[in-house]
Amino acid sequence: AGATIGQLYHNIAVKSRTYGFPAGICPTVGVGGHLSGGGYGTLLRKYGLAADHIVDARLVNVDGKILDRKSMGEDLFWAIRGGGGASFGVVLSYKINLVHVPPVVTVFTFNKNLEEGATALVERWQYVADKLPQDLVIRIVISVVNSTQREERTVQTSFQALFLGRVDKLIPIMEQRFPELGLRHNNCTEMSWIQSVLYFAGFPINGSSDVLVDRTPANYLVTVSFKGKSDYVTEPIPQTGFEGIWKMLLEENRPVVFFTPYGGRMSEISESAIPFPHRVGNIYEILYLVNWEEKGFKASKEHIGWIRRLYRYVTPYVSKFPRSAYLNYRDLDLGQSKNGTASYSEAKEWGIKYFKNNFDRLVKVKSKVDPDNFFRNEQSIPTIPSWAGKKN
Ligand SMILES: Cc1cc2nc3c(=O)[nH]c(=O)nc-3n(C[C@H](O)[C@H](O)[C@H](O)COP(=O)(O)OP(=O)(O)OC[C@H]3O[C@@H](n4cnc5c(N)ncnc54)[C@H](O)[C@@H]3O)c2cc1C
Repeated sequence: AGATIGQLYHNIAVKSRTYGFPAGICPTVGVGGHLSGGGYGTLLRKYGLAADHIVDARLVNVDGKILDRKSMGEDLFWAIRGGGGASFGVVLSYKINLVHVPPVVTVFTFNKNLEEGATALVERWQYVADKLPQDLVIRIVISVVNSTQREERTVQTSFQALFLGRVDKLIPIMEQRFPELGLRHNNCTEMSWIQSVLYFAGFPINGSSDVLVDRTPANYLVTVSFKGKSDYVTEPIPQTGFEGIWKMLLEENRPVVFFTPYGGRMSEISESAIPFPHRVGNIYEILYLVNWEEKGFKASKEHIGWIRRLYRYVTPYVSKFPRSAYLNYRDLDLGQSKNGTASYSEAKEWGIKYFKNNFDRLVKVKSKVDPDNFFRNEQSIPTIPSWAGKKN
């Protein structure tokens, strides 16, 4: 559990060209927190989450005992696959099943800014992205750039895709399902799966995958501060909604918004299989990010204030009752307790957003395995002493 996902990917690639693992995109993310909170990347439509592929784990419990799946029991093993390890113990290791990937995959990145009709394309993408074959994921990365057409900043939408197959098979799918994008052969590059990992992480694809082993985070991650928030979209957002979002993005220096399509395997796994509940019915997940370099409280207040306003603006367009959020994009705006001693009803404020109906089962497991609430943080799972002996 001390490894990074980059180390995991590199070690798979050293041994095989036809196995991969469906975890996140940024190689310096740690396996420990990532897998225990879900963990998704470019393989999510084909294989679901990293946590869906954990088959055993070793965990130090509150009594200092080292447990495996058999000795911890199925309830605790369920809880640490999406419920966040930090409420339950210290994970020493996970045993995972790898997944098959073809020897050749295809990637493309297709940029469109507002002057090139980005808004209509993004709107259309919402009707296509979650229904495409499971072998194809097209995410959108939205940022603010200098316009090449005019002397001002504009919103750029970057359609980034991984297809688990060759370009000859991809083009007809795109022509049939998403012709509006106008994808051509020469927009695409064929490569191995591990090269696609390098590609999405921003490394040269012809370099060695040794770079994935480097645990030093990218420079920009060290020098900047950032704040993220997440949402789930269950009904397509109208163009007017996007126009409002673009307007707000143009007010900020370095905003980035990611739209990650769901559907495929994500819709086949039940909401209660593991604590991560965001499955069928979600078209896509949104991650909003704002980065800033200035130091000090004033700058933080300004940029965090901006992302909170954006989050408020988007309210009518995203999931409701609850307004869902992804645990691994932990957001203390959703509620917190100062020393990890929230009551059940206080913790439900954020717990229901991260876990929906799985929240109660997490509370039962927590009450049983850590009744004195030793493992706690601002948003940890609370205990209810009378639930300690309850069956699910
Ligand atoms: C640059 C960047 C890119 C990202 N990209 C993605 C992505 O593509 N997909 C995605 O799903 N998420 C992504 N994330 C979110 C990421 O999954 C979470 O930040 C995750 O919590 C990171 O885990 P960590 O162990 O590195 O972090 P930490 O901050 O060390 O841990 C996060 C939480 O997990 C707990 N924890 C860590 N290790 C253990 C352990 N061994 N046992 C028990 N509890 C433990 C910690 O106590 C803490 O509560 C990204 C984050 C960043 C910063």
